[in-house]
Amino acid sequence: MPSSRILLLGGTAEAAQLAGLLDADPAFDPITSLAGRTADPAAVAGQLRIGGFGGLEALARYLADEAIEALVDATHPFAQRITGNAVTACQEAGVPRLRLERPPWRRQPGDDWMEVDSVVAAAEALAGSTRRVFLSIGRQDLDVFKAHQDIWYLLRMVDPPADPIPLQHHNIVLARGPFVEEAEAELLTRHRIDTVVSRNAGGGATYAKIAAARRLGLPVIMIARPPTPAGPVVDSVEAAIDWLNAVLMKPCAPAAKVD
Ligand code: NAP
Repeated sequence: MPSSRILLLGGTAEAAQLAGLLDADPAFDPITSLAGRTADPAAVAGQLRIGGFGGLEALARYLADEAIEALVDATHPFAQRITGNAVTACQEAGVPRLRLERPPWRRQPGDDWMEVDSVVAAAEALAGSTRRVFLSIGRQDLDVFKAHQDIWYLLRMVDPPADPIPLQHHNIVLARGPFVEEAEAELLTRHRIDTVVSRNAGGGATYAKIAAARRLGLPVIMIARPPTPAGPVVDSVEAAIDWLNAVLMKPCAPAAKVD
């Protein structure tokens, strides 16, 4: 039986895990697509393409030209544009689409969270007494915090920023996850952080800062996720493989368990 070409919209640990499992199965021919945001992305199994498609019409064309049989959107929960484009492009091209989205973090006993529904609301929620913030929101929305130039910000990035940071008082730490609680607690303490601002990314790789904030008794302004698109959604790579087998009607080999 010829292998099925699967487009994985990636940029997450789950996408890389899924690529590894599909690539090891002769029934599948996975192509991982990355936006190209990091200079040296982690290796992925199977084929790799890098860079934007050029909008939703171009993505629909890519699906047809490459004879893609199914698309798994395993992008970051906050990567809204590509997720929206995938919905429409798959409809136009008649390609089945699955959203693979890891579960959000849940408040634990001892957490001091203020949950807000946007980055703008997070900036508005900063207390008058806030002086030093670990701002863990990616680079795209830093402008929103320009209204609070009296605050000092700790920013963490994988690569040095290409553009100037719009915040007057800041320090940049270059690091790639996964992170561990002990080191995160040390980072927060060393920089005398009094508030953490984070998106509810979910997953294990970046949770340590939340656990460290709990340990240190620091407040966290937690930005809720944008809505999940309509259509099939799973929260594990095993369930994604089950969906692919069902939709492509492959003989159903049980998916290997992933830690
Ligand atoms: P976005 O706002 O949803 O996407 C902006 C544009 O980047 C899209 O319109 C698309 O360009 C291109 N793009 C995004 N993901 C792509 C992919 N997997 N393959 C090819 N093109 C892609 O996304 P973002 O928030 O900038 O995130 C970019 C990527 O980084 C995502 O793939 C995401 O999984 C990963 N990531 C994001 C975050 C985050 O915090 N947002 C965190 C970790 C990883 P065209 O319109 O030209 O096709």
